[in-house]
Amino acid sequence: MADADPAEPLAMSRLMAELQQSNPQLAMLAQLMQARTIVAEPVSPDLSDEVVRLAEQLAAAEAKIDAMKRQARRLVGNYHAACDRLADLAAALGACGLCWGEDSGCPSCRGRGRPGMVRPDPEIRARLLGPPRPRAGSAEHSAAPCRPPREMNDAQSL
Ligand SMILES: [Zn+2]
Repeated sequence: MADADPAEPLAMSRLMAELQQSNPQLAMLAQLMQARTIVAEPVSPDLSDEVVRLAEQLAAAEAKIDAMKRQARRLVGNYHAACDRLADLAAALGACGLCWGEDSGCPSCRGRGRPGMVRPDPEIRARLLGPPRPRAGSAEHSAAPCRPPREMNDAQSL
């Protein structure tokens, strides 16, 4: 019911100052007792050990974060390199570089961009796949190497 006297902290500090003059050890004890009432949680007896331990944990966590950032940058770089290679391969095969003909909603090809659907880029094709092979129907392919030998033997025996 009774409000705290606003002059009380002032009176207390004056009392402490007087005590400091007359009996410094008792003043220190009084200050410690006052401090104990303010601090709610018990304080670790050796704070420096705790601080060192937390600083080590912080340093380890920061090192882990740095390593993860480096790994993430590497992964993003690899992802972009793979996308570039895939786009080059699509151009070499005449496919849509966005979806390879697998997305009917593709803004580039509307799902019609399978390999061979457009003229391949000759430079990229030569770089990735080497010089163009002779086309089917040329002299090299007329021997039909896929035919089983037995069939050929049967034909000779007739
Ligand atoms: Zn597409």
